[in-house]
Amino acid sequence: MSRELEGDLVIVGGGTAGAYLGWRMGQRGHRVYLVEKQKPGEPGSHIGIFHIDEIRFAQFDIPLPEGDELIAHHPTGKAWPPDGDEAKPVRYPFYVMEMPLFIERLQGYAARAGAEILFETEFTGLILDKGRPAGIEARAGDEKITIRAPLVVDASGVDGVVRVSLPEELGMETAPIEATDFLYVILQYWDDLAPDFPRGLNFYPFHKAFINPGYGEGVIVGIGQPEKLETASQIQEQFLEERFPGVKHRLVKKTWGRTPYRRPPFSLVADSFMVVGDAAFMTKPFSGEGVTSGFTACQIAAEIADAALHKKDLSREQLWPLNVRYFRDQGAKFAGLMAQLLVAAELPRADVNYLFSRDVVFSSYDLEQMNRYFEVKMGPGRLLKTAAALLSGRLSGKLSREGFSALLAAMKNAGAIQKHYESFPDDPADFPRWTGQAKKLWGEE
Ligand SMILES: Cc1cc2nc3c(=O)[nH]c(=O)nc-3n(C[C@H](O)[C@H](O)[C@H](O)COP(=O)(O)OP(=O)(O)OC[C@H]3O[C@@H](n4cnc5c(N)ncnc54)[C@H](O)[C@@H]3O)c2cc1C
Repeated sequence: MSRELEGDLVIVGGGTAGAYLGWRMGQRGHRVYLVEKQKPGEPGSHIGIFHIDEIRFAQFDIPLPEGDELIAHHPTGKAWPPDGDEAKPVRYPFYVMEMPLFIERLQGYAARAGAEILFETEFTGLILDKGRPAGIEARAGDEKITIRAPLVVDASGVDGVVRVSLPEELGMETAPIEATDFLYVILQYWDDLAPDFPRGLNFYPFHKAFINPGYGEGVIVGIGQPEKLETASQIQEQFLEERFPGVKHRLVKKTWGRTPYRRPPFSLVADSFMVVGDAAFMTKPFSGEGVTSGFTACQIAAEIADAALHKKDLSREQLWPLNVRYFRDQGAKFAGLMAQLLVAAELPRADVNYLFSRDVVFSSYDLEQMNRYFEVKMGPGRLLKTAAALLSGRLSGKLSREGFSALLAAMKNAGAIQKHYESFPDDPADFPRWTGQAKKLWGEE
């Protein structure tokens, strides 16, 4: 059996990014095919409960959650040091939600805007015309489906199934993500807990751990650690042993997933091609969350793709503004944060305790700013305070020589990387030079 379809664009992946982009492109009147390999209701079910910052609903023009999709709303949270009980308030509201229902809602918006969603349909390969994408091939059970479209979008999540199958000549990075390039996120759903067990939103940035609301009176004890699932699991056990030894609880379920923890490909576009969301490694470096940071790119992509389709010009040059707009703003901030965090993760525990106590890392201000703006603006006052804390830490021996030097180097390198991304070239002809410099800054050459 086979079927042939034709549209203006085909999006591979009906998760949060694909469904959001499909919705926006449907609203603009384009014929959208959204291809999703799972059944309706399945996407997001391996995660269950997740979080979105309150301010993002207005930013991305999405109605607030209601009913079963809404688990809780928390106006504040707490950030905890590596050791001790001096938590700091994080005054930044989050919605706690059910992911499969949220995705179904977005898919519903997309379908009502005219997008056709093909569930249980798996991308199997690209159709090429004169070397550039002209659609996709997919399989639904025994049926072979051919979808022709002048624009193909990869929103297939961490494996980026379309990006990795592009011909080299299109100039995209096509290497698959490596096993060491993920944060391995483990969620333990606990209930039957004592009333004094932490409730609400609790962040343990040193351990990359969190305790967040679960179902009913329950909680989610979570962790996201790079490198390996086993490492994440061991660190979670150590963390629980240190913080909550012998705590009585009932394990309702344990689940895990992967979220990208590496820089995005240097370009998000090629002739007739765009990549967004986890497929383009757009997760927030400080938390691994990627739903709304993916929307940032989708919002830009929708504008650019709309203009390109109207012009009937889907060339790399025409799609290039997605790179410029994404990388000069959110992309630049994430690059700077990633460079900083890679070093912060190596700091000795005693150093982090000291820096936390002096508000140099993970202060209430930092966490609020980081969540809201993805960067921490340092006015002269704060810069002076930070410098004084670093110096007095070094002089008093509370901050190790290695920690001190690593921090200064990280701040310098992060600043340079962010600035480099802020100068992402308008002209694709300048891209090779820009890429060469970027590789040096990332230590890839
Ligand atoms: C345990 C865990 C907890 C998380 N918690 C949060 C959180 O609280 N807040 C937050 O913002 N982010 C969170 N994240 C990250 C977030 O889930 C992702 O960043 C986000 O879902 C990325 O959306 P996406 O649409 O790009 O990819 P996905 O949601 O992965 O969607 C990709 C879709 O493509 C489909 N697909 C894949 N291959 C094919 C193929 N060959 N053919 C057809 N379809 C295909 C998949 O079935 C999937 O539905 C969490 C991640 C994990 C693992």
